[in-house]
Amino acid sequence: MRLGALEAGGTKMVCAIGDENGMILDKISIPTMTPSDSMPEMIRYFKENNIGALGIGSFGPIDLHKDSPTYGYITSTPKKSWENYDLVGNFAKELQCPIAFDTDTNAAALGEAYFGATKGMDCSMYITIGTGIGVGIFVDNKLLHGMLHPEAGHIIMAKHPSDTYNGKCPFHGTCFEGLAAGPAIEERFGAKADTLSDRAEVWEMEAFYIAQALMNYTLTISPKRIVLGGGVMHQKQLFPLIRKQFANMLNGYVKTKELEDLDRFIVPSALQDNQGIMGCLKLAEQSLL
Ligand code: ADP
Ligand code: ZN
Repeated sequence: MRLGALEAGGTKMVCAIGDENGMILDKISIPTMTPSDSMPEMIRYFKENNIGALGIGSFGPIDLHKDSPTYGYITSTPKKSWENYDLVGNFAKELQCPIAFDTDTNAAALGEAYFGATKGMDCSMYITIGTGIGVGIFVDNKLLHGMLHPEAGHIIMAKHPSDTYNGKCPFHGTCFEGLAAGPAIEERFGAKADTLSDRAEVWEMEAFYIAQALMNYTLTISPKRIVLGGGVMHQKQLFPLIRKQFANMLNGYVKTKELEDLDRFIVPSALQDNQGIMGCLKLAEQSLL
């Protein structure tokens, strides 16, 4: 069956057609304008492709509770035209097929869990470090929602001893996202992050924050593997730095076979930036069951 996938982001809407095996047959990208600009184009694409179900992974926060009057809405986003927008409802009016809805990072966690770096594992996490920091959590073979959905990019951090930066998060200042997302790196060091590859102190500090977050996630969620993606993680030298600081911080407290080999515990995505879309295909398939 042809399935539709939508990765709804703050800068672009990636729409794709594929199947339940994560095979992507076609993909387009539409700039995120206002709903009245972007929605008709997406609806036309999915209608033309005659999809049997649609899976959406969205920026948020979003309402995922099926019994809520605002289920399927993007709730409080800084993108004003999408605030309190009924994303699922507006697709449902036009597409006569089941629609599944989750966060963009949960969709990516699902993509990795079925097709990528955490394939076959029943408990894993996916973290994107880009314009913001988002965390998807897969526990007991299901995406974690809980009260709302995880917002684990906003956990509070202990500052690096030589970091004088005040943090960029408008809500918390020096939360993980406020200290370690791409825009924070760029404001602190006064240059585009992709031009800072040779500045060792930049990545040492970045690894300090990422390792701290991973330590906290490891102790609370107890994932069997953690996947790191997003623009900042294009700096591949971060991986060994993160593993080293993570080991120092954990200090031998938890001993498992997974933690014995950090090269296999903290890993890059295996899906070349298709993890979100592939997860949306899986969401679409699940909506048919
Ligand atoms: P988004 O989070 O908007 O979906 P990305 O994951 O690509 O998009 O993140 C974009 C951010 O990641 C940029 O603002 C920049 O700070 C950072 N970034 C992008 N490419 C690189 C790179 N090669 N090295 C370091 N940082 C990067
Ligand atoms: Zn925050």
